[in-house]
Amino acid sequence: MPQENRIRKLPKTVADKIAAGEVVDRPLSVVKELLENSIDAEAASIVIEIKNGGKSYIRVTDDGCGISKEDLFLAFERHATSKIRTENDLFRIHSLGFRGEALASITAVSKVEIITKTVRSKVGSRLQLEGGILSEEGDTGCPDGTTIIVTDLFYNTPARLKFMKKDATESSLIIDFVSKMALAYPNIRIRMINNGSTLFSTQGKGSIPANLMTLYSREISERLIQISDRQGDYEIEAYLSPVDLSKINRKHQVYFINGRQINSHLLDQAVSEAYKERLSEGRYPVAYLFLNVAPERLDVNIHPNKREVRFDQNEEVKSFLVTALKHGLSTEQSFTTMSVKSSFRSPKLDSKPPQSHQVDIKTLLSTKRAEQANAEMDMAPLVIYEKNDPYEFPPNIEPELPRKELLPDIRILGALFGTYLMGTDDSNFYLIDQHAAHERVFYERLLSQFNSSDKLSQGILTPFVAEVSPANMDRSGEWTLTLEAMGYVLEEFGARSLIIKEIPGFMSLEEAKSFLLDFIDQIDESNTTISQKTLDKIIMNSCKSAIKGNDRLDEREIDQLLFDLAQTNNPFSCPHGRPTFIKLSKYEIERMFKRV
Ligand code: ADP
Ligand code: MG
Repeated sequence: MPQENRIRKLPKTVADKIAAGEVVDRPLSVVKELLENSIDAEAASIVIEIKNGGKSYIRVTDDGCGISKEDLFLAFERHATSKIRTENDLFRIHSLGFRGEALASITAVSKVEIITKTVRSKVGSRLQLEGGILSEEGDTGCPDGTTIIVTDLFYNTPARLKFMKKDATESSLIIDFVSKMALAYPNIRIRMINNGSTLFSTQGKGSIPANLMTLYSREISERLIQISDRQGDYEIEAYLSPVDLSKINRKHQVYFINGRQINSHLLDQAVSEAYKERLSEGRYPVAYLFLNVAPERLDVNIHPNKREVRFDQNEEVKSFLVTALKHGLSTEQSFTTMSVKSSFRSPKLDSKPPQSHQVDIKTLLSTKRAEQANAEMDMAPLVIYEKNDPYEFPPNIEPELPRKELLPDIRILGALFGTYLMGTDDSNFYLIDQHAAHERVFYERLLSQFNSSDKLSQGILTPFVAEVSPANMDRSGEWTLTLEAMGYVLEEFGARSLIIKEIPGFMSLEEAKSFLLDFIDQIDESNTTISQKTLDKIIMNSCKSAIKGNDRLDEREIDQLLFDLAQTNNPFSCPHGRPTFIKLSKYEIERMFKRV
């Protein structure tokens, strides 16, 4: 904070240049603004406390510079700030705030109490406002710094009150945001309290890696590759995952530019380019990027919530990043090509579920078939079905029949690109996507477990631990039941992890781990209560990640796979609607070569 930190009302000409917008639309925005103010006040220690997802109570306490008694009332006026003074300042912003709008907007829609004291003054001052109107003021004894308590958010704006989501949803957004800020400000001790219990507390010792360990999974953090580089006006510090540690979405790509958490397509592209050809499609690295840019090269005044920024030279930034990240990755030894050995377990464990279970699956799947039909037809121009509509599969077909009909005695000729099995019978050629096939088998077994009252679990020799973000742990009750229904046996293990003691009977340990970790990641991502539809999607996606890698199957495994596929209710496509196999008749091939 500059020496001269008096608060002034911005001249109208400057105020008009500011990208305006509703700053306060949910509890998260209050926490964001208050936390940013504390950081701008050069606090060494900040405590954020919320209750009921921040709807009823938000308190942010810091030991920063405080606000002098003379300025205190002004701080709550619109366009009153100590951070910029002239229009030119807008082009070199060093602080997180600059619009002088936040406190005004927050007080307008809630009840606010502020207690603050600067080092220079002997006593602190206290203000209380309700809906923007001053209700109490006075002196008070208090330590240096500022405490702001916001209660009953939106009590006077019923429309917005209604718009707020469930407590757990609002709190998980806040916890996620604060965790990331805590990460990026390693010199500040940041403590997060939710409904009376401390979720995390960083040490303030200046180490991002230490904070990664505190805030995120230790297992992941330990493996991240640290990269630092600088060139001209750009400086980057990054933490990247080795290729064998990828995720199913970009959720673990977190970007800070000059201390601001931002979303950036440009940075997404830079990360993707740095990993190009190292990761299979649909997999994303973990990437925490902390980029610093000379303030005059960056416009932060383009977005109401400042979640986006504009560089003056996009290409320059991108190429700086790609080069830096690539270089860092290529000097890292730990890169290995991913290879996950598939393991089909003994037929006994894999034994076909009883008929009654199959009926359950059918009911479940039937709702999906209509959607899949379209997807499949679009995606698989080469699939030639002998039946008009593969989804009209007779439900009461004899179990042994499908294999005979669909995949008769196929001789496997080999594998193509490590993924497609080539096969033939007397009059057809088949290409079977072994991953899609495996996914279908896996998915149906999972559903059958899920719907069965009699779970088939297998104990594992060494229980494993899955780390869960603080935000997600807070509502683990909502989703651990689902995992249990699949046959996982798990318990809470400390404040931020689950210990897995048993896994579903039909999964290998590797599959069970990948499935579970991706499942948790996705739950993490869905900020609302998880509907059945979301859950279905999450299960399908997690199946995909359980079945990955360039598996080389031996003859017995191929046989087993084809057999298992034929037993499924919908052998034609994977759960995502991609075809499991393509069949070309001899006639079709001859026609292609213009022989007939
Ligand atoms: P801005 O951050 O854009 O300046 P705000 O409405 O958030 O606008 O805050 C108005 C002013 O109040 C700030 O410029 C700052 O001088 C003062 N202020 C707000 N919060 C704090 C705090 N925690 N510590 C010290 N000063 C603060
Ligand atoms: Mg502010």
